[in-house]
Amino acid sequence: MASYDVIVIGGGPGGYVAAIRAAQLKKKTAVVERDKAGGRCLNYACIPAKTVLNTAEIYAEVTENGAELGLKSQTSIDWPAVQARREKVSKTLEDGVTMLWKKNKIDFLAGEASLEGAGKVKVGSDSHEAKTIILATGSVAMSIPGIDFSDRVLDTWGAWSLPKMPKALVVAGAGASGSEIASAYARMGVKVTLVEMLDQLLPAEDRDMARVVERQFKKDGIELLLGTKVEGVKETKTGVTVTAGDKQIKADHLLIAGGRSPDTDALRLEAAGVETEEGGRIKVDDFMLTSANGIYAIGDLVRGPALAHKAAEEGVVAAEHGTGTPTHPVDLSLVAGATFCHPQVAGVGMTEEEAKASGREYKVGKFKLGGAGASVVYDDRAGLVKIIGDPEYGEILGAHIVGNRACDMISELVVTKALEGGYQELARIVHPHPTMSEAVLDAARAVEGWPIHA
Ligand SMILES: Cc1cc2nc3c(=O)[nH]c(=O)nc-3n(C[C@H](O)[C@H](O)[C@H](O)COP(=O)(O)OP(=O)(O)OC[C@H]3O[C@@H](n4cnc5c(N)ncnc54)[C@H](O)[C@@H]3O)c2cc1C
Repeated sequence: MASYDVIVIGGGPGGYVAAIRAAQLKKKTAVVERDKAGGRCLNYACIPAKTVLNTAEIYAEVTENGAELGLKSQTSIDWPAVQARREKVSKTLEDGVTMLWKKNKIDFLAGEASLEGAGKVKVGSDSHEAKTIILATGSVAMSIPGIDFSDRVLDTWGAWSLPKMPKALVVAGAGASGSEIASAYARMGVKVTLVEMLDQLLPAEDRDMARVVERQFKKDGIELLLGTKVEGVKETKTGVTVTAGDKQIKADHLLIAGGRSPDTDALRLEAAGVETEEGGRIKVDDFMLTSANGIYAIGDLVRGPALAHKAAEEGVVAAEHGTGTPTHPVDLSLVAGATFCHPQVAGVGMTEEEAKASGREYKVGKFKLGGAGASVVYDDRAGLVKIIGDPEYGEILGAHIVGNRACDMISELVVTKALEGGYQELARIVHPHPTMSEAVLDAARAVEGWPIHA
């Protein structure tokens, strides 16, 4: 039996960061992982998705715009090489995490962990003690009721790791993951049907953003079935026939990008008195402390958006609070969403629909990316920056961007909002030229009606 100050269970973006922070605070720390360092994000989710999306982006750029850009080439997709790069990128990042654990003198306990009462963790047949335990075991894919995953009916990991380039796909669910899958495959020439139960593509996003993406998806040949449910699927040896509304769609695979549920099966939460809430998520307070003394939970296991950067920051807070170090809670209203389809969508704070529903006064500034000089250089003209502001104090209530670099561009709006800057201040901050961030500057001016380039 070994004794630690902190044991972290799960080595994903929440867990690996929590372990490093605890070790920085001079605590004897171990991290337990039953699979790979970096967790699902690095090995099966965010990173594999972004790696294949990057290839799709470059392929579409060269094949669709090559002549315009002055590039002559005969480009085709080498699918085994795309998959080999995906594996290589994940492996590089996995090794990077292992190296950081070593550098910080964190013990890596390989195996599946469960709780054995207060302050005790079992890994395989070994028992360990810890003053603080941080649960960071993430989430698993859920299917649609009545449909089971199989070789033909795949979850998001199945979608990004297909052994063969498909000809046709049906994607169920047009949230972030489903839209990324649909966008990447359509841009690599696959016939894609994207089915969404609700009446909006990317249902959680501001409607203006979703409209821009919808236009591009149609241009990319994606058949979009909104307000439509996937009702059933028939599998054959060579593919599937999917029933969606009144349509029967034949494809190589059905990909289900629905919800995810917390991965708590192996943990034996009841052994330590850790309570759960709606959806099986673990109940936590603002400092990520569960109902059990000394046990914390973070990331996809708990309330709030299932995002890697949110998990990581919660890891910092749990490690600090669990070691008696002053800290402050994660402000969930400042966690930006980021979807890497083409074009990208990113947002922080309220959508206009939410601002309207709240009944409060608000003002909107919109600026089309096409007004920024850089958008012509980088052929990034179709998008939009939208800022929703409070007319009395100038607070940024929400900010949304759709465009090829939206997920990078959103950070300055997160920072401005976090530091309690308003749209008036942002409107007076000099932005470098020629960059897409100049569109943010003009959107801030647009809230008060004076965008220069519109
Ligand atoms: C396809 C896809 C794309 C995504 N893209 C993005 C993106 O672009 N940006 C973003 O911010 N988020 C993205 N996400 C969400 C992101 O992956 C999650 O929010 C993030 O991985 C959560 O991190 P985590 O640390 O809570 O858990 P995870 O990354 O799920 O890691 C949990 C780890 O715990 C281990 N584990 C589980 N149980 C045990 C046990 N009992 N003992 C030992 N180990 C255990 C697992 O093996 C796993 O390695 C994406 C999700 C999906 C599905």
